[in-house]
Amino acid sequence: MTLLISTTPALARDIDGKAISAQVLDEVREEVLNLARQHIYPALAVLLVGDDPASEVYVRNKLLRAKDVGIRSLEYRLAENASQHQVLELIAQLNADVTVNGILVQLPLPGRIDEAAVIHAIDPIKDVDGFHRENVGGLVQGMEVLTPCTPSGCMRLLQETCGDVSGLHAVVIGRSNIVGKPMATLLLQAHCSVSVVHSRSVDAPALCRLADIVVAAVGRPGLIDASWLKPGAVVIDVGINRITDESGSHLVGDVDYASARTVASAITPVPGGVGPMTIAYLLKNTLIASQMQHEAQVHEHTSASHLMVS
Ligand code: NAP
Repeated sequence: MTLLISTTPALARDIDGKAISAQVLDEVREEVLNLARQHIYPALAVLLVGDDPASEVYVRNKLLRAKDVGIRSLEYRLAENASQHQVLELIAQLNADVTVNGILVQLPLPGRIDEAAVIHAIDPIKDVDGFHRENVGGLVQGMEVLTPCTPSGCMRLLQETCGDVSGLHAVVIGRSNIVGKPMATLLLQAHCSVSVVHSRSVDAPALCRLADIVVAAVGRPGLIDASWLKPGAVVIDVGINRITDESGSHLVGDVDYASARTVASAITPVPGGVGPMTIAYLLKNTLIASQMQHEAQVHEHTSASHLMVS
């Protein structure tokens, strides 16, 4: 008998963000129908200031996906030279509008506008990006709050790939407010041991080699290669970087995919990994926001009735 032994090392399997995000969108679509039976119609307001081409594409995709799942979307545009006062006024108007459940301000805003002031002007119960300090604090304390979309999407990819991640060691590379920090918090909540690596970390590759799960959110094309990974690690690449090489202009992640997949057991491709999950979780958050607002209204109504009786 001849025994055939392959000399090619097994390559990591792809974590299919397109397929998993389609499942999430199906769940959202079904829940939108359930809510419609109760005469609840979730609506998302998207505000774009200026005409940054990348932001235009992101906003268009968000609006299209919202329509796909039956969520009403409202697009608001302000000119590049709009004042901070105008932005805040519009947010106040949307906060007060009971038919609007989610408010998303497309970032980055033009440099003159104070991003933090705008984010914190959004009513936390409508903050579908989960960036308001009240939601950030609630997340850290393990409360049920609106949670940033990209880290939520990454957690779903991990659940679908690893099942229970309890007890695993996760290394998050990057500590931004929108990805790295909430990601580390969610992993901790899922009972991982978590390390956060950043630009000041001493020997980041050595720290990363200890990880069962690596989440890269750095913004440096191909920074993480096979030499950063423990054999069998699961790799989630959040990075979206546009590069131009001899084959033209294209998007790559923070992970050197070709190199990393020779060592990892599973990896998200870029594009087609984390990207589609972010929009899916934005729509899931819109749904959660409208349910939370409905419950708050019911509670208010019940409390008012009790007051009238007593
Ligand atoms: P960011 O705010 O620029 O943060 C980058 C982080 O990486 C910082 O914490 C920085 O450390 C750290 N860092 C930089 N160089 C490093 C190095 N050599 N070694 C270790 N850490 C290093 O970026 P972000 O907003 O989190 O975004 C990160 C990437 O994810 C970008 O490519 C972005 O486009 C992408 N992204 C994708 C999605 C999606 O939907 N897929 C969503 C959001 C962002 P310091 O804190 O020390 O400076």
